[in-house]
Amino acid sequence: MKKILFLSYTASLGGGELCLLDMVTGMKQDYGAQVMVILLNDGPLRHKLESLGIPVQIIGAAESLAAVKTNSFWASVGAWRGVIASARVIAQQSQTYDLIHANNLKAFVIAAVARLWGGAPVVWHLHDILTAHIFGKLNRIIAVTLANYLAARVIVNSQATAAAFAQVGGDRRKVRVVYNGFSATRFAPITPAMVQQARMDLGLAPTDFVVGMFSRLSPWKGQHILLAAAELAHLPNLRLIFVGEALFGETKYADQLRETAAQPDLAHKVQWLGFRSDIPLLMKTCDVIVHGSTEPEPFGRVIVEAQLAQRPVIATAAGGALEIIQDQVNGLLVPPADASALVQGLQLLHDQPELRQQLVAAGYENALTKFGLPQVLASFNDAIN
Ligand code: UDP
Repeated sequence: MKKILFLSYTASLGGGELCLLDMVTGMKQDYGAQVMVILLNDGPLRHKLESLGIPVQIIGAAESLAAVKTNSFWASVGAWRGVIASARVIAQQSQTYDLIHANNLKAFVIAAVARLWGGAPVVWHLHDILTAHIFGKLNRIIAVTLANYLAARVIVNSQATAAAFAQVGGDRRKVRVVYNGFSATRFAPITPAMVQQARMDLGLAPTDFVVGMFSRLSPWKGQHILLAAAELAHLPNLRLIFVGEALFGETKYADQLRETAAQPDLAHKVQWLGFRSDIPLLMKTCDVIVHGSTEPEPFGRVIVEAQLAQRPVIATAAGGALEIIQDQVNGLLVPPADASALVQGLQLLHDQPELRQQLVAAGYENALTKFGLPQVLASFNDAIN
């Protein structure tokens, strides 16, 4: 029986952590692995794991690590002291495990350094595009150097993430692409009556053209582009719902968005629903779902979820989205950060219900065949063996 120690720095519920939940439970239930999750911070991920019967341990990371941002160099001596302190604990804790699965960059740095104290072999699950503006150059060099020398394997969530890793000098031979996996059973129980009720609860009329965005509020997720598109579009029945909250301290951007949306021409069209767990129902209340990242999206979970919800999706043509969507076949692609192109896409879907139906049918098929949870778990299992 395989013994896997999963390590995550953050316990927020972003895409990487939702993927982690699926991998941990799948490894335990379907592959009989003995699993344990160590979180370096407390948060909602802990409750989710505990409710699924997964053993969780919180090992508080040093304060100095919280100050290390993706675009700032790990320059402070304090940060490295924090890494070393956590690494020693992880080295000790991992003694009886076959491997450490590190789910984010800080977790990986700690697990890699733990190798120096005899920690278990490390698999880095990389959910980010390292060349994006989001990561500072030195951070990327540190990550890739540690990966090349100390990681047994690097699992990436798309070819786009793999290419970016290789571009900054990552060793391609260590890389395995494992997409995120999804189960259609979360979407199946939602009946048209439930959708009708949900629309009523949100004050949406049957004739409204409801466009939803399901992403944490962050400048590169592009909520401002959808607001700009709503201002440009000549669609009187257009209504927008934004699902998601600022997860990683980007509250200033969230405030700016709410201010923009409060303007008289938009105020009656826009709703902010905050972070929600009833994604399948909310997706089904929409007529169209927009995934509007202005930077290449490493994977784009929301796109596959929209396909499973059987709603047409418009995504920006970059990164992992290009591995999910074939333009005009199972969704629409528009250039990133281009509000006019987004308006055209929305107008097209508004005017052509038959096109919507075609995209939905092909999208659903695509989600089931390419991103089904059992096959993704199988490739995850291969990748860690
Ligand atoms: N999500 C959620 N509640 C929200 C907003 C988003 O559960 O209020 C989920 C969404 O359904 C998706 C994930 O968060 O599964 C976001 O993943 P994605 O790959 O789109 O973006 P990331 O957060 O990884 O950058």
